[in-house]
Amino acid sequence: MTSSFSNLSLAEPLARAVAEMGYETMTPIQEQAIPVVLSGQDVMGAAQTGTGKTAAFSLPLLQRMLKHENSSTSPARHPVRALVLLPTRELADQVAQQVKLYAKYTDLRCAVVFGGMDMKPQTLELKKGVEVLVATPGRLLDHIEAKNAVLNQVEYVVLDEADRMLDIGFLPDLQRILSHLPKQRTTLLFSATFSPEIKRLSASYLQNPVTIEVARPNETASTVEQRFFSVSDDDKRRALKQIIQQRGITQAFVFVNSKLGCARLARSLEREGLRTTALHGDKSQDERLKALDAFKKGEVDLLVCTDVAARGLDIKDVPAVFNFDIPFNAEDYVHRIGRTGRAGASGLAVSFASGGNDARLVADIEKLIKKPIELEAMEFEEDRPRGRINDGRRHWREEGEAGDGRDVLDTLEAPREQRPEPRTARGGGRPHRAPSAPRDPFFEQPYETPEREAAPTWETTVKGAPARGISANIKPKRKVAALFKSSEPT
Ligand code: AMP
Repeated sequence: MTSSFSNLSLAEPLARAVAEMGYETMTPIQEQAIPVVLSGQDVMGAAQTGTGKTAAFSLPLLQRMLKHENSSTSPARHPVRALVLLPTRELADQVAQQVKLYAKYTDLRCAVVFGGMDMKPQTLELKKGVEVLVATPGRLLDHIEAKNAVLNQVEYVVLDEADRMLDIGFLPDLQRILSHLPKQRTTLLFSATFSPEIKRLSASYLQNPVTIEVARPNETASTVEQRFFSVSDDDKRRALKQIIQQRGITQAFVFVNSKLGCARLARSLEREGLRTTALHGDKSQDERLKALDAFKKGEVDLLVCTDVAARGLDIKDVPAVFNFDIPFNAEDYVHRIGRTGRAGASGLAVSFASGGNDARLVADIEKLIKKPIELEAMEFEEDRPRGRINDGRRHWREEGEAGDGRDVLDTLEAPREQRPEPRTARGGGRPHRAPSAPRDPFFEQPYETPEREAAPTWETTVKGAPARGISANIKPKRKVAALFKSSEPT
C-alpha cells in the first residue's frame, strides 16, 4: 500500500514544493526511508536511481534543517549542514537540481561542486554559505584544501550510489572527507547492491543503521524481454542494425565496456547513417550535456555509452537496451537493462556474446539474476544489396572496423590518486574545459518518447518486420553449448 505525502506532516514550504512537482503518493523508498530519516537514525538503503530516492533523503533532511533556516546574508549563518556525495558529475548535478526544487520555498541554500569545471564560481557560492552541499569526492577535497568548504558543522551525510563510488576507487577520498566531519552526525548510505565492500563501509561509518530495501537487489523487471545472442565481434554492428530494424525500435541505449569502444562504435554507426551519439568519460562536460540533450529531444536515436557515463542519468525509459559488450560486472547488467521496461512498460534488452571471456560473464549474469539464460544463434537475413551512403540516411553498408577494445574502463572523475597532475591548494591545477557550472533544465525533465517529424532512420528500410520475435530466421531459445562449455553455472 502506498501512502500520500499529506500523511507525513511535512513543513508547509516543503509540502508546497512537493505538491507543485505533482507528487501525491510516495514511492516505496520514500515511504520507508522518510520516517526513519526524520527520526534521526542512520540508513542503509538498497535503491537505485529512478526509485525516488533523492526525495527520500532530501525531504526529511530539509525538514530537520528547517530549525536552522534564516535569511541572514552572513555566510557564518549558513554553514554546510548536509553533505551529499555522488560518484559522477551528472548525478551530482541532477541531485542538486532536485534538492533546490524541494528547498525552493525555504531559506536553506544548496550548491553543487564537481570536477571538470572552473573552481571559481563554485568557490564564490561556497563562500556565501550553503546548508546543503552536493559534491563529487575529488572536487570536494580540492575545496576542503583550499578552505572554501568548512565541514565542521555537518550534521547529515549522504553517500549516494556508494557501490559505484567504491567501484571507481573513491574509497580513499571518501575516508579523507569523512575524517573532516563531526563524529556526531546522521549518515545515510544508498547503494544499488549490498556487496561485502558496501557492508564494510557501512560498518565503519554508520551507527546501527536501519536497513531499507525497496526491491530485491539484482532483480530484473519482468516487463523486460531479455535476449542473448551469440555473435562474433565483427558481426555485432550488423546484428544491432538488424534487430532495431526488425523490431521497429525508435530509440536505444547501446552499452559498451570501454571509452575507446564507445567512441569507435558511435563513429561507425554514425557513418552508416544512424543518428548516434556517444557518452563516455573522455567527453567534455559540455559535450556530454549536449549528447544527452540531443537524445532526450529525439535528435539522435542511439546513445552509445559506457556504464559509468550512463549511470543514474535521469532518462526514465528507453524502448530498448543493447549490451554490445557483455558487462564485466554482472551487476552492471542489471543497471543497464533497468533502463528499459520501467513502470510496467514493456522493454527489450538484447545482449551480444562473442566468445572468449563472455561465456563466464554470461554465466555470472545468470547466477545473479537467478533466471536461466538461453543463448541464441544470431542468424542474419539475406545480405541486402548495399549502396554507398549518398543521402546519409537510407542505406546500410558494411564497415570493416576491427572489434572494439576493452582495455580502458571509464571513469568520469578519477579518484585523486589516479589523477595525472598535482594541484595547487587554491584554484585547482587542471585546465578547465567549460567556463561555468551547467544549469541545464533538461536534467529535470523526465524522458518521454520524442515526437518525431520523420520515422527513425532504420524504419524506412524495413519491410514486413515481424510483430514479435527477432527474426523469422532465428530459431528461438537455441542454446549454444560451446559458449557455456568452459564455465557452466554452478
Ligand atoms: P530519483 O530516484 O531520486 O532519481 O528520482 C527519479 C525521478 O522520480 C525524479 O525525476 C523525480 O522527480 C521523480 N519522483 C520522485 N519522487 C516521486 C513521487 N513520489 N512521485 C512521482 N515522481 C517522483
